[in-house]
Amino acid sequence: MSNNVKHQGEYPLSAFGTTLGVATGIGELMEDLGTALADKSTNLCMLGGGQPAYCPDMMAVFQEELQKIASSPERVQEVLGEYDPAAGNMEFRKALAQMFHELNQWDVTADNIGLAAGGQSACFHLMNALAGEGEHILVPLIPDYMGYRDQLVSGAEFMGIPGIAEIQEDFFRYRVDLEAVRQAPDSVRMMVLSRPTNPSGNVVTDAEVRALSEECKRRGIPLMIDHAYGEPFPNAVYVETESFWQPHHIHLYSCSKLGLPGARTAMVVACPQITQLLTNMTAVTSLANPNLAQALTLDLIKQRTLPTLSAKYLKPFYQEKCDYAVRTLKGLLADKVPYHLHAPEGAFFLWIYFPELPIPVQDLVERLKQNGVLVISGHWFFFGVDDNATDHQHKCLRMTYSMETEEVTKGLERLTDTLVEVHRSKV
Ligand code: PLP
Repeated sequence: MSNNVKHQGEYPLSAFGTTLGVATGIGELMEDLGTALADKSTNLCMLGGGQPAYCPDMMAVFQEELQKIASSPERVQEVLGEYDPAAGNMEFRKALAQMFHELNQWDVTADNIGLAAGGQSACFHLMNALAGEGEHILVPLIPDYMGYRDQLVSGAEFMGIPGIAEIQEDFFRYRVDLEAVRQAPDSVRMMVLSRPTNPSGNVVTDAEVRALSEECKRRGIPLMIDHAYGEPFPNAVYVETESFWQPHHIHLYSCSKLGLPGARTAMVVACPQITQLLTNMTAVTSLANPNLAQALTLDLIKQRTLPTLSAKYLKPFYQEKCDYAVRTLKGLLADKVPYHLHAPEGAFFLWIYFPELPIPVQDLVERLKQNGVLVISGHWFFFGVDDNATDHQHKCLRMTYSMETEEVTKGLERLTDTLVEVHRSKV
């Protein structure tokens, strides 16, 4: 019992239960998101979560693939009636490796492809497997994805390096503090970043990725690059980037932001030690991965159309939503409230810094909720850093622009009214 920690309720919990089973930021967000999505009568503008938009062209493609499966009894049996191997479907893994080989000239085979039930699950398994007690996972550019922050049950901790904020003409953007990364202790066992970055929409530059990759190589540790919004799919990236392969890289891709979050599937491109690690953990924790998304995307990967469809449908779709949200926000806030908007280089979010915000951003977010708009407090995205490492953690918020235009417009109007009220009450 010595390892057990008492928790509210009848039963004592283990350290594992206490770490994973208590209320977390990501849990609260998913709860808010699910409740509001289920309540069709809600008047709340849902600019909180990372829900992908309904993109009719892309959905039509998946519907067609689904119909192809549904019309063949053998395929229905394979997809719904059989366990895949824990490593994933071999045909799918081969096709994906070939796609990366052709697209990016990556020297990878099916042995380099691992599967997981979503990017969240891949991160959970790999982070806990690669770093333990007294060790660290370094996040080289904070703010980064809040979904990482509560994942460590192995005793490891996050170490975050706040991005250096540079004000440019229209926007500000974060740059990686490479000097601080190089000075990190030897206890760092892995680096992780999302690219594009959730929440800021930053795309860590090619030169920064190369520098981080070199630093990881020098230390003999993996660099995990989470492409949840990235290239080649769903390709919600609005700047030129390259993606390169090194055996110490872990490239993480997900089907979620393609429009398939319900299918819970992510793919990892990594060295065979890492993909085997993932396979072994999958076998123990869940026997096999969901096979629906693999089946739905198999032909699109074999025919190499998944990247072209993403570029043709999803990229312009999100780019347009982004441009609209930026234009509307700028029009509404102009001369009313001091703010800086992060350069929206990718993903589905606007990240806004209010340098003169007179109340903590958590309080602002609560007020916004009462005023009918759900956004996410920026503080959740600052982890592994001191409480006062930068004032951005108390003065930034994230809003998604992936919802319908009307909802985004109404949400931005409510956001503006509340901000004006809050800033006015200061004087
Ligand atoms: N990584 C990033 C950066 C995300 O934003 C998300 C979800 O929003 C995930 C990973 C996890 O997504 P999923 O588990 O649906 O693949």
